[in-house]
Amino acid sequence: MRRVVVQDDLREAQIRPDSGFNTYIELLERDLKDFLTDTILVDLDVCPACGHPDANPDFEKMGIRYMKCVQCRTCYASPRPEMEALDQFYAESEAIQYWNSSVAQRTASARKQYIFSPRATWVLETAGVHQQEDGHLVDFYTKYPAYLEEVKAKGSFSKIFIRKPAVSVADLIPSESFEVVDSIEDGTVSVVSAFEVIERLFDPLAFIQHIHRILRPGGLIFLTTLSISGFDLSVLREKARNLLPPTHLTLPSYEGIHTLIERGGFSLVEFSTPGQLDVALVLDALQRDPDVTLPPVIDSALRRRGESVHEDLQDFLQKANLSSHVWVAAQKVVS
Ligand SMILES: [Zn+2]
Repeated sequence: MRRVVVQDDLREAQIRPDSGFNTYIELLERDLKDFLTDTILVDLDVCPACGHPDANPDFEKMGIRYMKCVQCRTCYASPRPEMEALDQFYAESEAIQYWNSSVAQRTASARKQYIFSPRATWVLETAGVHQQEDGHLVDFYTKYPAYLEEVKAKGSFSKIFIRKPAVSVADLIPSESFEVVDSIEDGTVSVVSAFEVIERLFDPLAFIQHIHRILRPGGLIFLTTLSISGFDLSVLREKARNLLPPTHLTLPSYEGIHTLIERGGFSLVEFSTPGQLDVALVLDALQRDPDVTLPPVIDSALRRRGESVHEDLQDFLQKANLSSHVWVAAQKVVS
């Protein structure tokens, strides 16, 4: 299976500047409190990744309880709001509007360089390898135009569709580059991209199954997600500042992602964790919160060794698929 390793000099502040991120968290805490007061929450009977019925309470974050699946160790919010309520929250939350209109735009240049250009290259190259580089591409929950602009400029897709844009994309991308649609005909799509989507949905499996229906035989899905198996989330858990409900309702484990993809009717063609920020995020958490405790060997490597050890550790995490930022490419299996 193919694996991507990235060696760029990304710093967290370039994509999450402190002042903007602090304001976002304050707004989100307020929005979420209001939302939870008048929203019905539903208990999940099974793990949203692997389908196993048994789980134990793991932690709480901003009034949301997270469970840990006993089989695949996916971490998931239960009870959780249903999709209609979530869509309304994502559309109306002041915090999310602030992020999309302010922080995302201010950091657009760094995001393009470090996040969207590499994603566009990844999608185009992998689609080429699997002869899916023409036909239709659908991007779900589009947040940033840079990715689609690059796909349009460098790719050969005959049409680019957007489903459920997370922001008003009409103001951001030339309308001749794409079409926002309310439905997609089954079996007509070559490539689907859904970046940071499965973790914010009520039912990730239903989404993956929907993608399976709209793809043509051999079509590809490209996903990114945060994973609880990754270094920073697995050691920091609820203390991870970038773990925020309700945009992170399901934090699939390494095993959970594999099982979810297979249950949805896909065969995995790539699983990479090209994240670059895990070590920096844990170092940042140590500085902010003296109560953060780490396994002794990690504590020693982070607190008592220099920058070169930190860089070596991050390189190792990428190579060992132990970073929290996961990229998945999978192909529709036709039975
Ligand atoms: Zn599970």
